[in-house]
Amino acid sequence: MAEKALIEKQIHGLREQVAAWKQAGLRIGLVPTMGAIHAGHLALVERARAHGGKVGGKVGNKVVASVFVNPKQFGPNEDFAAYPRQLDTDARLLSEAGCDLIYAPQTNSIYPPGFATTVAVSGLTDVLCGASRPGHFAGVTTIVAKLFNQCQPDFAVFGEKDYQQLLVIRQMVRDLDMPVEILAHPIIREPDGLALSSRNTYLSDEQRQTAPRLYATLEEMAAALRAGQAPQAVFAQARKALQQAGFRIDYLELRDPETLQDRLTDAPRLQQPARIFAAAFLGATRLIDNLAVSPASPS
Ligand code: AMP
Repeated sequence: MAEKALIEKQIHGLREQVAAWKQAGLRIGLVPTMGAIHAGHLALVERARAHGGKVGGKVGNKVVASVFVNPKQFGPNEDFAAYPRQLDTDARLLSEAGCDLIYAPQTNSIYPPGFATTVAVSGLTDVLCGASRPGHFAGVTTIVAKLFNQCQPDFAVFGEKDYQQLLVIRQMVRDLDMPVEILAHPIIREPDGLALSSRNTYLSDEQRQTAPRLYATLEEMAAALRAGQAPQAVFAQARKALQQAGFRIDYLELRDPETLQDRLTDAPRLQQPARIFAAAFLGATRLIDNLAVSPASPS
């Protein structure tokens, strides 16, 4: 059986443990989460575990996962209150995946009365989820900056499920000279293609049946773009198909994978590598997904 991860709720306990590990020559990997742990999160923990190399023939790192439902990244009409909280189950799953320490702070120790600082990245946050969820990314960068300061990891792992978030965090780390290496992990999916998400538990049985159509549509779009079909037509058809399946589309866009510049031009075919980004509601549940797409190489 896997060793049980330590659980720390206070910053000083976290700091003491991390300092002791660093003193012993170990590298620290951080996996920030909001809990409701699923196999997507566990893949990030395993990636962090594998990234450390060896010290004296032993695993050369320690993995810290934070579990904190961050109120600052939820809008006023979003699901902060309903968001699943299950620390005991999370602790067991994270321990089994090889996590060494779970940092589960209380909200008032993260945001004590009088807290007045925001860390915000501009530009990348103007589009996609940034446009749909005002303030969301400022909430994300503020908490991630705090977690980096509290834990002082050597590296941190983020999922491509939240691809825009990954770019925003890389930008923050670059701009503020944070000494943390940022690793990305591909999206973990259900066998039917649905990207794992803590919010999938909100779906009714019928919605759960429909949900995989989101990724299936992205795959069909990528295949059509690769085959040389006109991007505007591919997107128009996909919008129609998603609406007919029962989705309310928040956005469906083609963007540059680094700058997030709009790539949905009138060009007759896809010119360069890009990424399709989708956010769509089934009932009140908002699902997001994304997929890389490249033009077929000329034969
Ligand atoms: P969350 O708990 O939703 O804030 O997610 C915590 C981290 O897990 C983020 O870096 C997410 O991108 C990542 N993540 C969530 N779902 C998945 C997934 N299906 N595949 C890969 N990474 C994921």
